[in-house]
Amino acid sequence: MIYQNSIEFAKALDRTDPLKTFRNQFHIPKHTDGEEKIYLCGNSLGLQPTNTQKYIQQELDDWAKYGVDGHTEAEHAWMPYHEFLTEKMAKIVGAKPKEVVVMNTLTTNLHLMMVSFFRPTKKRYKILIESDAFPSDKYAVESQLKFHDIDPTDGMILWKPRPGENTCRMEDYEKIIQDHGDEIALVMIGSTNYYSGQSFDLKKITKLAHDKNITVGFDLAHGAGNIQPNLHEVGADFAVWCTYKYLNSGPGSLGGCFVHERHANNPDLKRFVGWWGHDKSTRFNMRKDFSPIPGAEGWQLSNPPILSMAAIRASLDVFDAAGFEKIREKSEKITGFLEFLIDELDNEDIHIITPRNPEERGCQLSIQVKNADKTLFDKITEAGVVSDWREPDVIRVAPAPLYNSYTDVYVFVQILKKVLNEI
Ligand SMILES: *Cc1c(COP(=O)(O)O)cnc(C)c1O
Repeated sequence: MIYQNSIEFAKALDRTDPLKTFRNQFHIPKHTDGEEKIYLCGNSLGLQPTNTQKYIQQELDDWAKYGVDGHTEAEHAWMPYHEFLTEKMAKIVGAKPKEVVVMNTLTTNLHLMMVSFFRPTKKRYKILIESDAFPSDKYAVESQLKFHDIDPTDGMILWKPRPGENTCRMEDYEKIIQDHGDEIALVMIGSTNYYSGQSFDLKKITKLAHDKNITVGFDLAHGAGNIQPNLHEVGADFAVWCTYKYLNSGPGSLGGCFVHERHANNPDLKRFVGWWGHDKSTRFNMRKDFSPIPGAEGWQLSNPPILSMAAIRASLDVFDAAGFEKIREKSEKITGFLEFLIDELDNEDIHIITPRNPEERGCQLSIQVKNADKTLFDKITEAGVVSDWREPDVIRVAPAPLYNSYTDVYVFVQILKKVLNEI
């Protein structure tokens, strides 16, 4: 794609954008002057689809109308409500429906998955994680190690960028697996790093680990709705994700969980259980011994919050209407435009730390601004840009293909340019 550095070019891209009508299906936050903000923060909290309110209102109305009978009588009966999400969510992560369930929140699911899939022995007891993993993932991993009486300084192996680099190299991962493969029980990696925006080759990571009999789990918090992780084909043992970032399902909304079908009917897998994971046909014979539903649903604990699931349904319907291939296509194009415009600033203090190869990233670019401090961020915020600042000197911006326009991207870079001249 050959880009041009002009507002006319950005507007022309918007006019021919096959997803251009989807922006109208979202509430775009407004500036004090009533103008729409430039919202580049879908990697942190996705915007609200306009139909979310209707979907939630339906459940409130059915609750008012039916009380407890809503479990069976509501237009979308609450008892099987999570099943209404499964097929569309499975498409988002490239899985078979029985491999996917929406339940709990991300960190909770990560713990539940590690209960089942981190089974340390005397010889094989370590967990490999990327050094710049999201803090919650590291806390979860550390606490699981401690739970098994393993000292995290011994039990946690870090996949680190080389000195002076910001992203992790696959050859370094290969080397760790080669040198320590027999001690590693679990590889737990974020599919797309929250800080650098780097997306990994999940298939290669899984294959190299499986060759050494290591279990593999992925955190798709920054992957789901952003890249296509193809979980089934990749062969990961488990994955977890949240739905409030690229999946636009509202603050703190429920998470998703994937368990590969090879584990669907394994009675030897230890797990923490609750009644919602019990065989549906006998769930209400409360005195039966626990018998898990085959597949990911067998890890459910509780009957889920329907209002949160209604918001997820609303959002998944938008994704389904757009089609993930078109979303990904625009993602590459709009992120490429952002990259082009930043390069055009020709400012040596600015450095994009996210990989240049579109296959190694989603729509987020992490921009390092040398010698800058938070004043820069505050000034672009004042000018109407919603982005995200990470100390000491990185701005993360993510043009979300469903609701961001090429004009948003152009205007953002103009604002950045102006502010850089002022500080
Ligand atoms: C956003 C994010 C989380 C947040 O976890 P919650 O349990 O949903 O609060 C965890 N891990 C990663 C990698 C994230 O990006």
